[in-house]
Amino acid sequence: MYTLTKKQVTEMLIGCCLGDSCIEKRKSGDINNISFSHEKKQKDYLLYKYNCISKYYYPNPISKKENKKTKDFSGFRFRLYYNNSSNKTIIDFLNKNLKNENNERIIPNDLSLITPLVLYFWYLDDGYLSARLIKRKNSNYVRKQLGIALKSYSDESILKLIDYLKNKYSLNFKPKKVGNKIGWITMDNKKDMIIFFDLIKEYIDNITPESLNYKFCLFELPQTRGETFPEYNRCNCFKTGICKCRNKDFSVCI
Ligand SMILES: [Zn+2]
Repeated sequence: MYTLTKKQVTEMLIGCCLGDSCIEKRKSGDINNISFSHEKKQKDYLLYKYNCISKYYYPNPISKKENKKTKDFSGFRFRLYYNNSSNKTIIDFLNKNLKNENNERIIPNDLSLITPLVLYFWYLDDGYLSARLIKRKNSNYVRKQLGIALKSYSDESILKLIDYLKNKYSLNFKPKKVGNKIGWITMDNKKDMIIFFDLIKEYIDNITPESLNYKFCLFELPQTRGETFPEYNRCNCFKTGICKCRNKDFSVCI
């Protein structure tokens, strides 16, 4: 396992709290816990988080989660409770930076907290890399879009983040609206995706759980592009045209 330092675990937790996890409060307003949960398929990812957090903090054991309606077993969860001094210190830090006084989730005001490792975990939690086969008379190709789905952050704070990521890391995210509010930050251009992946390459190579390989699989087909980026093909798709991470057949592109 690629072990994270305590500082890196903090970055992981910031990424998770921007993504799928949330800091839960009691009705009285007191902090209760941070919960981490994933579908069955992503058990490998949940276990990785659990092992990293356990090195420095005291999470409760992993338990099974059931679908609220059907009561079927749907995934796994664990919680980090606000019940001892190390847990309290980290939860207070996250709460201070990622929630406002009305208990709403926010992007940190101090954007220097958004490091490449934070972005990596945020993307693992809430990111997507979609791939669609486009058939044309003369050549077929795969259209891709990368994005991170955002929670209810203010448009102003999202635009500030986009600017920051552009200036600090040359990342070219664009805002994408859902209705009249920004719902995603996205990139459509392969070169931009590669700038992003280059920034987090060490983590892609060493941490990415198998169930999430598709988020980094660009399946560039060198035969059609005249370029090669095999390091961002997580399966053998750039040779075969078949993306095992997504279970999709793009061989008509070759
Ligand atoms: Zn693949």
